[in-house]
Amino acid sequence: MNAAEAASTAIGASFNCLLCGAREASLFLDNCRDYYMGKPGVFAYYNCARCRLTQLHPVPADMSPFYEAYQVHSRKSWLHETMRGKLMSKGYYLPEEGGQPLKVLDYGCGDGWYLASMKERGHSVTGFEANQQHADNLSRQLDLPVLAETSELRAKYAAAFDVVTMHFVVEHLSDLNGTFELANAVLKPGGLFYFMVPNIRSREAKLFRRKWHGLDPPRHLQFLTDKHVRDLAKRTGFEAADVRYFSLPNGFAGSVTAVLTGGFVYPLFAGLMLPSLVACAVMPDGNLAVTLRKPTT
Ligand SMILES: [Zn+2]
Repeated sequence: MNAAEAASTAIGASFNCLLCGAREASLFLDNCRDYYMGKPGVFAYYNCARCRLTQLHPVPADMSPFYEAYQVHSRKSWLHETMRGKLMSKGYYLPEEGGQPLKVLDYGCGDGWYLASMKERGHSVTGFEANQQHADNLSRQLDLPVLAETSELRAKYAAAFDVVTMHFVVEHLSDLNGTFELANAVLKPGGLFYFMVPNIRSREAKLFRRKWHGLDPPRHLQFLTDKHVRDLAKRTGFEAADVRYFSLPNGFAGSVTAVLTGGFVYPLFAGLMLPSLVACAVMPDGNLAVTLRKPTT
């Protein structure tokens, strides 16, 4: 028995692939730590024996402590806003200026900057955030609807949107099938579902391994690849996917910061952003950007 088979046996029946339901898996990466937020714990990722999805296992019973004081949800400094505008917004769904106003759902809206920028461009935007308090705060701040219940979204917005966006959200989801079906249900026929996820098979992921910024354990539960995206799209009623690859400097800057400090030190991270543009050009496969279309008939 090799090490991977031994690990597979050791996790026994407790593994359950989030995508295909298989119960067998082999170890991908153990002894992973939360370098981004520094929360205590040691985590492991496994590859599903059937579909090869890389997935966190075991998943902590209560994930809420790992989202406490989550930086992604809080308002940012002027420096961070500027870097985001210039360096980090690549890959976000931005329709051409001067086009028709669109009805857009941004599912998992972080601190709301994307909703605000789309509203400013004249689009009709709605947000979704699973945390009710965060949803209410954003809704008040931005003066637009931000929902916190998927049942409400389904009931009020059936076939309502031109575009559904999930920017670095899918990797946090435990219900992949259900969330893709929901995106399908709230889209108009012909509407687009656009999302981006970190690419676990990328060169930067292979280079930095446990210290790869995109790993972000235990908040990142699974990592879809091109093949998984196409399977999932088909199963949840979307037409063939358009999958592109791109890197962002924060991926490299965050990873190098973890290597140098064993944590996340903001001034170092910020200082590494510009040099990281070079790494992005050399290794342009750090993330996947996916566009799925709901069929018109
Ligand atoms: Zn699987």
